[in-house]
Amino acid sequence: MALYVYKFGGTSVGSVERIKAVAEKVKNAHALGDQIVVVLSAMSGETNRLIALAKEMQAQPTEREMDVLISTGEQVTVALLSMALHELGCEACSYTGGQVKILTDSSHTKARIRKIDDSRIHAHLNQGKVVVVAGFQGVDEHDNITTLGRGGSDTTAVALAAALKADECHIYTDVDGVYTTDPRVEPKARRLERITFEEMLEMASLGSKVLQIRSVEFAGKYNVALRVLSSFTDGNGTLITYEESPMESALISGIAFNRDEAKLTITGVPDLPGVAFKILGPVADANIEVDMIIQNIADDATTDFTFTVHRNDYHRAKAILAQTCDELGARKVTGDDSIVKVSIVGVGMRSHAGIASTMFKTLASEGINIRMISTSEIKISVVVDEKYLELAVRALHAAFNLDQGGTLAQP
Ligand code: ADP
Ligand code: ASP
Ligand code: MG
Repeated sequence: MALYVYKFGGTSVGSVERIKAVAEKVKNAHALGDQIVVVLSAMSGETNRLIALAKEMQAQPTEREMDVLISTGEQVTVALLSMALHELGCEACSYTGGQVKILTDSSHTKARIRKIDDSRIHAHLNQGKVVVVAGFQGVDEHDNITTLGRGGSDTTAVALAAALKADECHIYTDVDGVYTTDPRVEPKARRLERITFEEMLEMASLGSKVLQIRSVEFAGKYNVALRVLSSFTDGNGTLITYEESPMESALISGIAFNRDEAKLTITGVPDLPGVAFKILGPVADANIEVDMIIQNIADDATTDFTFTVHRNDYHRAKAILAQTCDELGARKVTGDDSIVKVSIVGVGMRSHAGIASTMFKTLASEGINIRMISTSEIKISVVVDEKYLELAVRALHAAFNLDQGGTLAQP
């Protein structure tokens, strides 16, 4: 007898009919004699709807109350699925995160799971029941409701799979696996049979929202066998694995992109020790995360400094920087909140030179200006104007032959 954790995302539980279809699928798996824990998201659009409601009450909603509100979406779907299972004659029991209990830290709206008490779930599984758990939520040590950040149901599922020592964790979604890039942007994107944890972690952190980044971290750390599959069609999906890609010739595995970017530049900064700290310190103090950073080589004893932030933080960061500009006697602050980051990812980069130049050449031949570049061992990211996003992704997809297995056209 195997134990599986199945997670169904918002689209998969987006209507009564779809919840009934999920119930059918779960019942059939359960009938084979396996133990099944189901983790659900809220119905698609519901979390956004709740966030919009909160913003009608407060411009910056109180975070504790925000979590009380946005955790309700998942409570609806777990109850409905359990009812649908009962209707099919399958014993099932729904739980909120707090009831399980999924203990988190107290960082509301982005809490991290600390511990999961698996006794209640095991007891029900041993009685032959399907256990249905609300994704995306937990409670802190004072029993305050917390949520795990957008897309957090993935993390609930993987963390439960780790705690229960499940044989496999299946993430059922509206695509039939992890693709070479988001198929909504490049219809020629190809499903990957496997992808390594390392690559998936990069893809997720660089903007591929198919899995929440923390779920991949969990899966890697606790060795959870993780698979992304379609809710709607049969197939093997994509296995996230420790092994390197079997396609040795694949130089890169995928292209990720992030639209939520903005950049800020401060020019004419006196080039003195401690300047980076003076610029970025107040930004960090305001809890604004900084991603890429570039400091130019100084000429005439002044330097320019550019960095990127989440687009939501753009105006706040710009105001802080304007003040720093006055304090430092720098020249001026400029910014752009219509930029995006496009990244190529692959463990094949470690052993092959020339990948960056292929990337830059491809973008140049499309007339796309690169505004910033950053690299690590298995990724290269560029910042470009938002209007070039689709063009850049498709051109790179073709240049690296990703629609045909990922070898370079000219080795
Ligand atoms: P769910 O509601 O099931 O959690 P998400 O919307 O969070 O689903 O994630 C699935 C979506 O992720 C897909 O519809 C697809 O548009 C997007 N996506 C982004 N990058 C990729 C990728 N590399 N492979 C597959 N899907 C991707
Ligand atoms: N419902 C939450 C969200 O929309 C969590 C999830 O779907 O994973 O972000
Ligand atoms: Mg998701």
